[in-house]
Amino acid sequence: MINDFPQTLTIAGTDSGGGAGVMADIKTMQERHVFSTAVIIAVTAQNTLGVQDFMALPEKLVNEQFSSVADDFEIKACKTGMLADSAHVMMAVNNLKKYHFGYLTVDPVMIAKGGAPLLAEDAIQTVRDELLPLATVLTPNLPEAEKLADMTIQTDDDMITAAKKLQQLGAKNVIVKGGHEADPDKASDFVLLEGGKNFWLTSPRVDTKRTHGTGDTLSSCITAELAKGADVETAIRTGKAFVEAAIKNTIQVGHGHGPLNHWA
Ligand code: PLP
Repeated sequence: MINDFPQTLTIAGTDSGGGAGVMADIKTMQERHVFSTAVIIAVTAQNTLGVQDFMALPEKLVNEQFSSVADDFEIKACKTGMLADSAHVMMAVNNLKKYHFGYLTVDPVMIAKGGAPLLAEDAIQTVRDELLPLATVLTPNLPEAEKLADMTIQTDDDMITAAKKLQQLGAKNVIVKGGHEADPDKASDFVLLEGGKNFWLTSPRVDTKRTHGTGDTLSSCITAELAKGADVETAIRTGKAFVEAAIKNTIQVGHGHGPLNHWA
């Protein structure tokens, strides 16, 4: 039986507000013309104003979701998003090692824009030691890169040093996202590829607070492009362009940090 339509998997948390997490992942992947499955790690009660509550799912149900997906689909690429705590990071790691889901994009989600912690502090070590070495592409923002590389990032040179450290920790390709830096005019990401090629991706800063789910959208777009056979550099460049368009063409829903326009 032909089963060759590009298929992906997102391993992440839900967002009842529809703008981030698994919802952003599936919308992005749909838009990039791949078929996405999902293993839900945690359920959040959330809207554009913030995260009101969340609960991580029991291990048995997490493992069953993994085997349901693995038993029936030909997953070419997958991504991780919100993983909640150390135990759930290990559930993801163990299942990623058990099954063959192809390329892995790790979005090391830690804190939502509103300040809610989506990863327990003591799980950072587990992400660093266990998950990073499995990553084809790692996509930390500045605060996440600081935690994982265990350093302060203030300058462009610091971003480069952090990317190198994260690659030494085992992530094959790293994109350190500068969207959280202070520069009012531009947002620059530093990309370090396997083999050492590196470059900056710079885009003009858009004056908006409607950026909910930006990281999820980027990592999902990269994952979708990898599933379709793009090389890593092309996947990252496509992801950056997709997010830029989705931020520029934002839609007006919700009263806080609104979601992106995934069909931009
Ligand atoms: N909620 C979930 C479930 C997420 O995975 C993420 C992703 O990073 C967020 C919220 C955070 O979204 P943002 O920080 O872009 O508002």
